[in-house]
Amino acid sequence: QAKTSGKGRFAFFDPPMAAAMLRRHDLKTELAGAIERREIMVEYQPIVDLETGRISAGEALVRWEHPVRGRIGPAEFIPLAEESGLIRVIGRHVLEQTCRQARLWEAAAPDDPPLRLHVNLSAAELRDPDLTAGVQAMLEEFGLPPERLALEITETELLDDAVTSAARFGELRALGIRIALDDFGTGYSSLSYLHSLPLDTLKIAKPFVDGLVGEGRDASFIGVIVELARKLGLDVIAEGIETPAQLDALRDLGVEFGQGFLIGRPAAAGTGRFRRQMPAEFSVRQDARRA
Ligand code: C2E
Ligand code: MG
Ligand code: MG
Ligand code: MG
Repeated sequence: QAKTSGKGRFAFFDPPMAAAMLRRHDLKTELAGAIERREIMVEYQPIVDLETGRISAGEALVRWEHPVRGRIGPAEFIPLAEESGLIRVIGRHVLEQTCRQARLWEAAAPDDPPLRLHVNLSAAELRDPDLTAGVQAMLEEFGLPPERLALEITETELLDDAVTSAARFGELRALGIRIALDDFGTGYSSLSYLHSLPLDTLKIAKPFVDGLVGEGRDASFIGVIVELARKLGLDVIAEGIETPAQLDALRDLGVEFGQGFLIGRPAAAGTGRFRRQMPAEFSVRQDARRA
């Protein structure tokens, strides 16, 4: 009590902040053994063709199933993994799980066109000079052609080190791996920068999809992105589609691909919720639209 009064160094002591610091510290320590304890899992969210409803790809999203604290999302533990240097091991684990899953889906449905899988990368991984060789070795180990893999990096992280990013993207794309710019619109990419980066796909950040319905200038913003992407030869994927109105608006704007809770939530591969067919709700809407 004496310590919190007066001009001691505990004058700024703040219990919630201290609890958050302690949690960060503990998680960082516990994360070190999490892969061996099989607590790091991957879920997959479908990416669909918004016109036909067909699943064209899946995004791998990492989760930490903590035995005591419950599920911890990547937004919380990926930054800790970056600080502690564990990110490369975790990234490798996610890629390995995803490659294995790609082969399992293929074996389960050999007549379906193969799915492309998207894996998220953090800036720390992009800085790793061995990244490209590591990814290539993993694809070879599982016998997957590079076209089956897309790597996503968020626009904000990219800007930390633009020259290295561009060089790394060049290496990966030379192999045939696709590169997607994630959360597009939340950073500050200039047009010339976007033009010079070796990219395949822009993923429109969820806030713009949220702002689509209503008075919003977001529709014109997305319209401009679609136009720009077409000129640059890039695919466009809209993220975070939650309502039928958003889905319709995106279709009208000519956005070709999308993902979101409306279409399919991220799910473990084994639950059967990640299917090659569209959820019933989507097909019904499709039929109604065609009729
Ligand atoms: P992201 O790559 O932009 O992934 C989309 C996030 O939005 C995911 O959150 C997903 O579960 C969520 N989402 C998808 N559809 C909807 C929707 O309709 N509504 C709402 N409210 N959310 C939706 P998640 O899984 O918590 O991942 C957060 C971020 O963590 C990802 O954002 C990505 O940047 C990062 N991340 C995820 N997995 C990995 C990984 O394996 N490695 C790295 N480095 N980062 C990862
Ligand atoms: Mg992503
Ligand atoms: Mg995103
Ligand atoms: Mg993100």
